Amino acid sequence: MRKEVEVVGSEGDVYTVTFSDETGSFKAFCTCRAGVNRVLCKHVKNLMNSDPEVMASFEKSELKAMFDELDAKTEEIASLKRETDKLKKAIANKMLK
Ligand SMILES: [Zn+2]
Repeated sequence: MRKEVEVVGSEGDVYTVTFSDETGSFKAFCTCRAGVNRVLCKHVKNLMNSDPEVMASFEKSELKAMFDELDAKTEEIASLKRETDKLKKAIANKMLK
């Protein structure tokens, strides 16, 4: 699989996102500022979740398990944040006049 998609960024700039798995591992590249600095950008993420061919290749890759772990950890953080917010509120209710 090799796929090139042009996307329009929020400022109207056009970027090219390239996906491939020809080397045996799932690879993505985007020409936006984040992409050229090897940061996982929203253009790559959006296409990974919307293009069936790209999704199929991603799901077969070892990256799938890493993304699943990232999602789980992100949910853990959100859950802890809710708990700390609740505690702060309870403390404020008891302590503050
Ligand atoms: Zn990008």
